[in-house]
Amino acid sequence: MDRQQEFVLRTLEERDIRFIRLWFTDVLGFLKSVAIAPAELEGAFSEGIGFDGSAIEGFARVYESDMLAKPDPSTFQILPWRSENPGAARMFCDILMPDGSPSHADPRWVLKRTLARAADMGFTFYTHPEVEFFLFKERPDEDGGEPTPVDAGGYFDHTPHSAGHDFRRNAIMMLESMGISVEFSHHEGAPGQQEIDLRYADALTTADNIMTFRLVMKEVALEQGIWASFMPKPFTQHPGSGMHTHMSLFEGDRNAFYEPGAEYQLSKVGRSFIGGLLRHAAEITAVCNQWVNSYKRLWGGVEAIAGMGGEAPSYICWGHNNRSALVRVPMYKPSKGNSSRIEFRSLDSACNPYLAFAMILSAGLKGIEEGYELPPGAEDDVWALTSAERRAMGIDPLPQSLDEAVHAMERSELAAETLGEHVFDFFLRNKRAEWQEYRRQVTAYERGRYLPIL
Ligand code: GLU
Ligand code: MG
Ligand code: MG
Repeated sequence: MDRQQEFVLRTLEERDIRFIRLWFTDVLGFLKSVAIAPAELEGAFSEGIGFDGSAIEGFARVYESDMLAKPDPSTFQILPWRSENPGAARMFCDILMPDGSPSHADPRWVLKRTLARAADMGFTFYTHPEVEFFLFKERPDEDGGEPTPVDAGGYFDHTPHSAGHDFRRNAIMMLESMGISVEFSHHEGAPGQQEIDLRYADALTTADNIMTFRLVMKEVALEQGIWASFMPKPFTQHPGSGMHTHMSLFEGDRNAFYEPGAEYQLSKVGRSFIGGLLRHAAEITAVCNQWVNSYKRLWGGVEAIAGMGGEAPSYICWGHNNRSALVRVPMYKPSKGNSSRIEFRSLDSACNPYLAFAMILSAGLKGIEEGYELPPGAEDDVWALTSAERRAMGIDPLPQSLDEAVHAMERSELAAETLGEHVFDFFLRNKRAEWQEYRRQVTAYERGRYLPIL
């Protein structure tokens, strides 16, 4: 047994923890959990705990269903909302096949494999997500009525004694007690909308943290008698919830995106990484924006968002301080040393963070390997241009629907290689089915618009 495993066992005893939750994530990004007793833990560390993979979305076919969950002791945390004695703790797991090899269906493995490719090139990948979400007064019902936001605040509003204010305070304390540092939090542009930004960490830690984050937000909301949702675009007339992600590659302690004196202090590596993101943007969109509803956010239109700080990107371009661009190179702050980074803005808060980070990293690495040139930046508001102007500048739209995104992904070698055959096939099958189901729906919008006139 190694030292981390011993530390976990000792802590269980000292803190009287009798429930250990083993966490993992299915292909669509839903958290799964199985609780074991402390006596099972040594076996779990050495061999893993068996479960039926065919019952998990995207994991296995029925005839090959036996799988093992093997906890990663470095992710051990006591669950603060179950801290009374006896307490509960969690660890993220790697999923293995009965012969001990990694399961190709495990999103955490997909990301680990891509991080290993980056490591072969000498890089570690760091990410910092800005997670947006809504708080509603009550649990939304399944017949699709509009939910009521907890407040009527807007961007950066300070709403004293409001549910959102108390919520952010409680939520951040809970995150910090689980070792997840928060850098920034504020009210976002829409009523009831919040943003919490997690501190920079390596991408595997960030992805684990995002999974924990979503659960913590839901738990804290329930404690306050309200409801947290990561749905990308709950309202037609308000901005949606994005998960802009700042990222950089490090070579040892050195930020590989930083080059003093270069334009925006951005190195050749940084420029080619952006080149990769832009060239492969359409292919990775289905994973970064995986729901029918995600495209209502990306195509929310200028009217809905004007002046509200609620911009989601619709076009494939980059810019320096251009908030309508897919990739933004934030202002360089000399006081922050070699902090060059880029912000990728299409991601939404309801993606599978392991798969999304793997796709983004893969696209960026491809840019570096192939030495892609960075096209000229777009300093204008790209929404305000006409389509002809955008075409003349070589700016393509992002996929406009899940259907378009799935078509772009189907043809993508990069996506197939990054996800591996199993996840690639499952994901496409699942998303085609989602699109088919959606497109046969007759909506309230259509009845309201057509019945009176046709
Ligand atoms: N809510 C916006 C989006 O959907 C982002 C607002 C901002 O932080 O600029 O991406
Ligand atoms: Mg924001
Ligand atoms: Mg941002």
